[in-house]
Amino acid sequence: MAQDTAPQPVRGDGGGPDKGPRNMMLDRQNPELLVPPPTDHGTVPNLRFSFSNAHTRIERGGWTREVTQRELPIATEMAGVDMALEPGAYRELHWHKQAEWGYVINGSCRVGAVDHEGRNFLEDIQQGDLWFFPKGVPHHIQALANGVEFLLVFDDGMFSENDTFLMSDFFAHVPKSVVAKNFGWSVDQLDALPEREKYIFQGEVPPPLTEDRVVSPAGDVPRTFKHRLHAQAPHRFPGGSVRVADTTNFAASTISAALVEIDPGGLRELHWHPTDDEWQYWISGHGRMGVFASSGVARTFDFRAGDVGYVPFAYGHYIENLGDEPLIFLEMFRNPRFEDISLAQWMANTPAEVISDTINLPRGMIEALPKEKRPVVR
Ligand code: MN
Ligand code: MN
Repeated sequence: MAQDTAPQPVRGDGGGPDKGPRNMMLDRQNPELLVPPPTDHGTVPNLRFSFSNAHTRIERGGWTREVTQRELPIATEMAGVDMALEPGAYRELHWHKQAEWGYVINGSCRVGAVDHEGRNFLEDIQQGDLWFFPKGVPHHIQALANGVEFLLVFDDGMFSENDTFLMSDFFAHVPKSVVAKNFGWSVDQLDALPEREKYIFQGEVPPPLTEDRVVSPAGDVPRTFKHRLHAQAPHRFPGGSVRVADTTNFAASTISAALVEIDPGGLRELHWHPTDDEWQYWISGHGRMGVFASSGVARTFDFRAGDVGYVPFAYGHYIENLGDEPLIFLEMFRNPRFEDISLAQWMANTPAEVISDTINLPRGMIEALPKEKRPVVR
Protein backbone atom coordinates (compact mmCIF):
# COMPACT_ATOMS: atom_id res chain seq x y z
CA MET A 1 0.00 0.00 0.00
CA ALA A 2 1.45 3.36 -1.00
CA GLN A 3 2.06 5.42 2.12
CA ASP A 4 1.09 8.65 0.35
CA THR A 5 -2.36 7.39 -0.56
CA ALA A 6 -4.92 7.46 2.22
CA PRO A 7 -6.70 4.09 2.46
CA GLN A 8 -10.43 4.57 2.00
CA PRO A 9 -13.45 2.48 3.00
CA VAL A 10 -14.26 1.74 -0.62
CA ARG A 11 -14.97 -1.72 -2.02
CA GLY A 12 -16.03 -1.96 -5.68
CA ASP A 13 -18.83 0.56 -6.08
CA GLY A 14 -19.63 0.46 -2.33
CA GLY A 15 -18.55 2.76 0.46
CA GLY A 16 -16.97 6.18 -0.06
CA PRO A 17 -14.10 8.33 1.15
CA ASP A 18 -13.49 8.97 4.86
CA LYS A 19 -12.71 12.68 5.04
CA GLY A 20 -11.76 12.44 8.74
CA PRO A 21 -11.22 12.89 11.58
CA ARG A 22 -9.42 9.55 11.50
CA ASN A 23 -6.38 7.79 12.97
CA MET A 24 -4.48 7.20 9.75
CA MET A 25 -1.78 5.02 11.32
CA LEU A 26 -4.38 2.59 12.65
CA ASP A 27 -6.30 2.63 9.38
CA ARG A 28 -3.11 1.74 7.50
CA GLN A 29 -2.39 -1.11 9.92
CA ASN A 30 -5.90 -2.54 9.64
CA PRO A 31 -6.89 -2.84 5.99
CA GLU A 32 -9.13 -5.82 6.80
CA LEU A 33 -11.13 -3.69 9.24
CA LEU A 34 -11.37 -0.66 6.95
CA VAL A 35 -12.18 -2.66 3.83
CA PRO A 36 -13.29 -6.11 4.99
CA PRO A 37 -13.60 -8.94 2.50
CA PRO A 38 -17.20 -9.10 1.24
CA THR A 39 -17.52 -12.51 2.92
CA ASP A 40 -17.45 -10.75 6.34
CA HIS A 41 -20.91 -10.31 7.82
CA GLY A 42 -22.67 -9.49 11.06
CA THR A 43 -21.23 -8.86 14.50
CA VAL A 44 -18.22 -10.78 15.82
CA PRO A 45 -16.68 -9.55 19.09
CA ASN A 46 -13.20 -8.04 18.98
CA LEU A 47 -10.62 -10.86 18.79
CA ARG A 48 -7.39 -8.88 18.91
CA PHE A 49 -5.51 -6.71 21.38
CA SER A 50 -1.91 -5.64 21.01
CA PHE A 51 0.55 -5.59 23.89
CA SER A 52 1.45 -2.18 22.41
CA ASN A 53 -2.00 -0.96 23.52
CA ALA A 54 -1.47 -2.23 27.09
CA HIS A 55 -0.27 -0.31 30.15
CA THR A 56 3.40 -0.95 30.95
CA ARG A 57 4.48 -1.32 34.58
CA ILE A 58 8.07 -0.09 34.94
CA GLU A 59 10.24 -1.09 37.91
CA ARG A 60 13.97 -0.95 38.64
CA GLY A 61 15.18 -4.12 36.88
CA GLY A 62 12.49 -4.52 34.24
CA TRP A 63 9.00 -3.95 32.92
CA THR A 64 5.83 -5.88 32.29
CA ARG A 65 2.49 -5.50 30.52
CA GLU A 66 -0.51 -7.77 30.24
CA VAL A 67 -3.44 -8.59 27.97
CA THR A 68 -6.26 -10.09 30.00
CA GLN A 69 -10.04 -10.27 29.89
CA ARG A 70 -10.06 -6.62 31.01
CA GLU A 71 -8.31 -5.59 27.77
CA LEU A 72 -9.88 -8.24 25.52
CA PRO A 73 -13.30 -9.14 26.98
CA ILE A 74 -13.81 -12.29 24.86
CA ALA A 75 -10.64 -13.84 26.35
CA THR A 76 -12.24 -15.57 29.34
CA GLU A 77 -10.10 -18.73 29.35
CA MET A 78 -6.57 -17.34 29.19
CA ALA A 79 -4.52 -14.20 29.81
CA GLY A 80 -0.96 -13.24 28.83
CA VAL A 81 1.94 -11.23 30.20
CA ASP A 82 4.97 -9.84 28.36
CA MET A 83 7.86 -9.23 30.77
CA ALA A 84 11.51 -8.23 30.46
CA LEU A 85 14.24 -8.37 33.12
CA GLU A 86 17.68 -6.74 33.07
CA PRO A 87 20.74 -8.98 33.71
CA GLY A 88 20.47 -10.40 37.24
CA ALA A 89 17.05 -8.84 37.91
CA TYR A 90 14.37 -10.88 39.63
CA ARG A 91 10.69 -11.47 39.18
CA GLU A 92 10.18 -12.04 42.87
CA LEU A 93 9.35 -15.36 44.54
CA HIS A 94 5.56 -15.71 44.33
CA TRP A 95 2.60 -17.99 43.64
CA HIS A 96 -0.89 -17.61 42.19
CA LYS A 97 -4.23 -19.34 41.74
CA GLN A 98 -3.61 -20.02 38.04
CA ALA A 99 -1.27 -22.35 36.18
CA GLU A 100 1.58 -20.53 34.39
CA TRP A 101 3.09 -21.37 31.02
CA GLY A 102 6.24 -19.40 30.13
CA TYR A 103 8.11 -19.01 26.84
CA VAL A 104 11.44 -17.23 26.46
CA ILE A 105 11.27 -14.76 23.54
CA ASN A 106 14.89 -13.63 23.82
CA GLY A 107 17.79 -13.91 26.26
CA SER A 108 17.76 -16.45 29.07
CA CYS A 109 16.72 -16.82 32.70
CA ARG A 110 16.89 -19.16 35.67
CA VAL A 111 13.55 -20.34 37.01
CA GLY A 112 13.00 -22.18 40.26
CA ALA A 113 10.04 -23.81 41.97
CA VAL A 114 9.33 -26.11 44.91
CA ASP A 115 6.23 -28.31 44.92
CA HIS A 116 3.89 -29.40 47.73
CA GLU A 117 6.23 -32.26 48.70
CA GLY A 118 9.28 -29.99 48.84
CA ARG A 119 10.62 -31.39 45.58
CA ASN A 120 12.96 -29.08 43.66
CA PHE A 121 12.98 -27.56 40.25
CA LEU A 122 15.78 -25.20 39.13
CA GLU A 123 16.69 -24.79 35.46
CA ASP A 124 18.12 -22.31 32.98
CA ILE A 125 15.68 -21.47 30.23
CA GLN A 126 16.99 -20.29 26.85
CA GLN A 127 15.25 -18.60 23.94
CA GLY A 128 12.72 -21.06 22.50
CA ASP A 129 12.42 -23.08 25.72
CA LEU A 130 9.35 -23.04 27.92
CA TRP A 131 8.28 -23.80 31.47
CA PHE A 132 5.06 -24.73 33.21
CA PHE A 133 4.09 -24.25 36.86
CA PRO A 134 0.89 -25.81 38.23
CA LYS A 135 -1.45 -23.49 40.10
CA GLY A 136 -0.34 -22.60 43.61
CA VAL A 137 3.26 -23.80 43.15
CA PRO A 138 5.70 -21.07 44.29
CA HIS A 139 8.38 -19.96 41.85
CA HIS A 140 10.76 -17.21 40.81
CA ILE A 141 12.49 -15.98 37.66
CA GLN A 142 15.91 -14.36 37.40
CA ALA A 143 17.54 -13.01 34.25
CA LEU A 144 20.96 -14.38 33.27
CA ALA A 145 23.86 -12.35 31.81
CA ASN A 146 22.10 -10.98 28.71
CA GLY A 147 18.75 -10.25 30.31
CA VAL A 148 15.53 -11.89 29.24
CA GLU A 149 12.11 -11.21 27.72
CA PHE A 150 9.41 -13.84 28.10
CA LEU A 151 5.73 -14.49 27.52
CA LEU A 152 3.56 -15.86 30.32
CA VAL A 153 0.19 -17.45 29.64
CA PHE A 154 -2.32 -18.20 32.43
CA ASP A 155 -5.38 -20.47 32.34
CA ASP A 156 -7.79 -17.75 33.49
CA GLY A 157 -8.78 -14.62 31.54
CA MET A 158 -9.10 -12.58 34.77
CA PHE A 159 -5.53 -13.26 35.90
CA SER A 160 -3.42 -10.21 36.67
CA GLU A 161 0.33 -10.20 37.18
CA ASN A 162 -0.34 -7.41 39.71
CA ASP A 163 -2.44 -9.70 41.93
CA THR A 164 -0.01 -12.51 42.75
CA PHE A 165 1.06 -13.72 46.20
CA LEU A 166 4.56 -12.33 46.83
CA MET A 167 6.97 -13.55 49.49
CA SER A 168 7.95 -10.01 50.52
CA ASP A 169 4.28 -8.98 50.74
CA PHE A 170 3.47 -12.02 52.91
CA PHE A 171 6.26 -11.13 55.34
CA ALA A 172 5.05 -7.50 55.43
CA HIS A 173 1.61 -8.62 56.56
CA VAL A 174 2.42 -11.09 59.34
CA PRO A 175 3.30 -9.78 62.86
CA LYS A 176 7.05 -10.04 63.41
CA SER A 177 6.38 -12.02 66.61
CA VAL A 178 4.66 -14.67 64.47
CA VAL A 179 7.46 -14.64 61.88
CA ALA A 180 10.00 -15.07 64.68
CA LYS A 181 8.07 -17.96 66.20
CA ASN A 182 7.52 -19.63 62.82
CA PHE A 183 11.23 -19.73 61.90
CA GLY A 184 12.79 -19.98 65.35
CA TRP A 185 14.25 -16.46 65.00
CA SER A 186 14.05 -13.53 67.40
CA VAL A 187 12.08 -10.34 66.61
CA ASP A 188 15.18 -8.12 66.83
CA GLN A 189 16.74 -10.05 63.91
CA LEU A 190 13.92 -8.95 61.59
CA ASP A 191 14.43 -5.19 61.15
CA ALA A 192 15.50 -5.55 57.49
CA LEU A 193 12.35 -7.33 56.35
CA PRO A 194 10.67 -5.49 53.45
CA GLU A 195 7.68 -3.35 54.36
CA ARG A 196 5.96 -3.91 51.02
CA GLU A 197 6.18 -6.08 47.93
CA LYS A 198 9.30 -6.01 45.75
CA TYR A 199 7.83 -7.68 42.62
CA ILE A 200 10.62 -6.84 40.12
CA PHE A 201 13.99 -5.79 41.53
CA GLN A 202 17.66 -5.77 40.61
CA GLY A 203 20.00 -8.57 41.68
CA GLU A 204 23.35 -10.06 40.69
CA VAL A 205 23.67 -12.49 37.78
CA PRO A 206 23.60 -15.91 39.50
CA PRO A 207 26.49 -18.41 39.46
CA PRO A 208 26.47 -21.43 37.10
CA LEU A 209 23.48 -23.68 37.64
CA THR A 210 25.51 -26.50 39.17
CA GLU A 211 26.71 -24.14 41.94
CA ASP A 212 23.21 -22.80 42.55
CA ARG A 213 21.36 -26.10 43.03
CA VAL A 214 19.83 -26.99 46.35
CA VAL A 215 19.46 -30.69 47.13
CA SER A 216 16.06 -31.51 48.62
CA PRO A 217 15.76 -34.76 50.57
CA ALA A 218 12.47 -35.20 48.69
CA GLY A 219 14.33 -35.04 45.35
CA ASP A 220 13.42 -33.19 42.15
CA VAL A 221 9.91 -32.66 40.80
CA PRO A 222 8.84 -35.98 39.21
CA ARG A 223 7.89 -34.42 35.87
CA THR A 224 10.14 -31.57 34.78
CA PHE A 225 8.61 -28.11 34.45
CA LYS A 226 10.96 -27.32 31.51
CA HIS A 227 10.49 -28.19 27.85
CA ARG A 228 12.76 -27.31 24.92
CA LEU A 229 10.21 -26.40 22.26
CA HIS A 230 12.69 -25.17 19.64
CA ALA A 231 14.89 -28.25 20.09
CA GLN A 232 11.92 -30.32 18.96
CA ALA A 233 12.01 -31.33 15.27
CA PRO A 234 9.21 -29.43 13.52
CA HIS A 235 6.58 -31.12 11.39
CA ARG A 236 7.23 -29.57 7.99
CA PHE A 237 4.64 -29.04 5.27
CA PRO A 238 4.59 -27.16 1.98
CA GLY A 239 3.77 -23.72 3.36
CA GLY A 240 5.35 -23.90 6.79
CA SER A 241 5.96 -25.94 9.93
CA VAL A 242 4.42 -26.75 13.30
CA ARG A 243 5.83 -27.73 16.69
CA VAL A 244 3.32 -28.92 19.27
CA ALA A 245 4.04 -29.06 23.00
CA ASP A 246 1.33 -30.86 24.90
CA THR A 247 0.95 -33.70 27.37
CA THR A 248 2.35 -36.21 24.85
CA ASN A 249 5.84 -34.66 25.11
CA PHE A 250 5.59 -32.24 28.06
CA ALA A 251 3.85 -34.33 30.69
CA ALA A 252 3.63 -31.72 33.46
CA SER A 253 1.69 -29.15 31.44
CA THR A 254 -2.08 -28.72 31.50
CA ILE A 255 -1.73 -26.01 28.84
CA SER A 256 -0.96 -27.06 25.26
CA ALA A 257 0.68 -24.99 22.56
CA ALA A 258 1.54 -25.07 18.88
CA LEU A 259 4.34 -22.90 17.51
CA VAL A 260 3.32 -22.29 13.90
CA GLU A 261 5.54 -20.87 11.15
CA ILE A 262 3.85 -19.89 7.90
CA ASP A 263 5.99 -19.14 4.84
CA PRO A 264 5.29 -16.00 2.78
CA GLY A 265 2.12 -16.69 0.81
CA GLY A 266 1.25 -19.65 3.05
CA LEU A 267 -1.93 -20.36 4.95
CA ARG A 268 -2.76 -21.96 8.30
CA GLU A 269 -5.52 -24.11 6.88
CA LEU A 270 -9.25 -23.76 7.55
CA HIS A 271 -9.85 -25.52 10.86
CA TRP A 272 -11.35 -25.26 14.32
CA HIS A 273 -10.66 -26.60 17.78
CA PRO A 274 -13.11 -29.09 19.28
CA THR A 275 -12.44 -28.50 22.97
CA ASP A 276 -11.31 -24.99 23.93
CA ASP A 277 -10.82 -21.35 23.03
CA GLU A 278 -7.53 -20.49 21.32
CA TRP A 279 -5.20 -17.79 22.72
CA GLN A 280 -2.58 -16.53 20.26
CA TYR A 281 0.66 -14.61 20.55
CA TRP A 282 2.08 -13.21 17.32
CA ILE A 283 5.88 -13.39 17.42
CA SER A 284 6.94 -12.10 13.98
CA GLY A 285 5.60 -11.22 10.57
CA HIS A 286 2.10 -10.03 9.76
CA GLY A 287 -1.03 -11.43 8.28
CA ARG A 288 -4.74 -11.73 8.65
CA MET A 289 -7.09 -14.11 10.42
CA GLY A 290 -10.63 -14.77 9.28
CA VAL A 291 -13.12 -16.35 11.67
CA PHE A 292 -16.49 -17.94 10.96
CA ALA A 293 -18.88 -17.75 13.92
CA SER A 294 -21.83 -19.76 12.41
CA SER A 295 -25.22 -18.28 11.45
CA GLY A 296 -23.74 -16.35 8.52
CA VAL A 297 -21.44 -14.32 10.78
CA ALA A 298 -17.75 -13.82 9.94
CA ARG A 299 -15.01 -11.24 10.52
CA THR A 300 -11.43 -10.66 9.46
CA PHE A 301 -8.62 -9.14 11.58
CA ASP A 302 -5.13 -7.88 10.78
CA PHE A 303 -2.30 -9.05 13.03
CA ARG A 304 1.36 -8.23 13.51
CA ALA A 305 4.16 -9.05 15.94
CA GLY A 306 3.23 -8.30 19.56
CA ASP A 307 -0.50 -8.84 19.09
CA VAL A 308 -2.71 -11.21 21.05
CA GLY A 309 -5.47 -13.02 19.19
CA TYR A 310 -8.36 -15.05 20.50
CA VAL A 311 -10.64 -17.58 18.78
CA PRO A 312 -13.69 -18.84 20.68
CA PHE A 313 -14.11 -22.60 20.87
CA ALA A 314 -15.48 -24.15 17.62
CA TYR A 315 -15.17 -21.00 15.47
CA GLY A 316 -13.84 -21.90 12.01
CA HIS A 317 -10.71 -19.91 11.14
CA TYR A 318 -7.65 -19.49 8.93
CA ILE A 319 -4.48 -17.41 9.15
CA GLU A 320 -2.78 -16.09 6.03
CA ASN A 321 0.76 -14.73 5.82
CA LEU A 322 0.48 -11.43 3.93
CA GLY A 323 4.13 -10.40 4.36
CA ASP A 324 7.42 -11.34 2.72
CA GLU A 325 8.95 -12.92 5.85
CA PRO A 326 7.89 -15.99 7.86
CA LEU A 327 4.85 -15.45 10.05
CA ILE A 328 5.42 -17.05 13.47
CA PHE A 329 2.80 -17.32 16.19
CA LEU A 330 1.72 -19.46 19.13
CA GLU A 331 -1.65 -21.18 19.43
CA MET A 332 -2.42 -21.92 23.10
CA PHE A 333 -5.15 -23.96 24.76
CA ARG A 334 -6.34 -24.53 28.31
CA ASN A 335 -6.19 -28.24 27.65
CA PRO A 336 -3.37 -30.78 28.13
CA ARG A 337 -3.87 -32.04 24.56
CA PHE A 338 -3.59 -30.03 21.36
CA GLU A 339 -6.51 -30.85 19.06
CA ASP A 340 -7.71 -29.31 15.83
CA ILE A 341 -10.15 -30.40 13.17
CA SER A 342 -9.13 -29.82 9.57
CA LEU A 343 -11.88 -28.92 7.12
CA ALA A 344 -9.89 -30.53 4.27
CA GLN A 345 -9.24 -33.74 6.21
CA TRP A 346 -12.91 -34.02 7.16
CA MET A 347 -13.91 -33.63 3.52
CA ALA A 348 -11.26 -36.08 2.24
CA ASN A 349 -12.42 -38.78 4.65
CA THR A 350 -16.14 -38.43 3.88
CA PRO A 351 -17.74 -40.14 0.84
CA ALA A 352 -16.92 -37.81 -2.05
CA GLU A 353 -20.50 -37.64 -3.36
CA VAL A 354 -21.68 -36.28 0.00
CA ILE A 355 -19.22 -33.38 -0.25
CA SER A 356 -19.85 -32.95 -3.97
CA ASP A 357 -23.63 -32.74 -3.44
CA THR A 358 -23.10 -30.19 -0.64
CA ILE A 359 -20.69 -27.68 -2.18
CA ASN A 360 -21.56 -28.28 -5.86
CA LEU A 361 -17.99 -29.12 -6.90
CA PRO A 362 -17.03 -32.11 -9.08
CA ARG A 363 -16.40 -35.37 -7.21
CA GLY A 364 -12.91 -35.59 -8.73
CA MET A 365 -11.82 -32.43 -6.92
CA ILE A 366 -12.91 -33.92 -3.62
CA GLU A 367 -11.28 -37.29 -4.27
CA ALA A 368 -7.94 -35.58 -4.98
CA LEU A 369 -7.76 -34.04 -1.49
CA PRO A 370 -5.06 -35.52 0.78
CA LYS A 371 -6.48 -37.62 3.61
CA GLU A 372 -3.66 -36.64 5.98
CA LYS A 373 -3.77 -33.40 7.94
CA ARG A 374 -1.83 -30.45 6.50
CA PRO A 375 -1.97 -27.72 9.13
CA VAL A 376 -0.20 -25.24 6.86
CA VAL A 377 -0.53 -25.09 3.08
CA ARG A 378 0.64 -22.87 0.26
MN1 MN B 1 4.14 -16.57 38.20
MN1 MN C 1 -6.46 -22.53 15.42
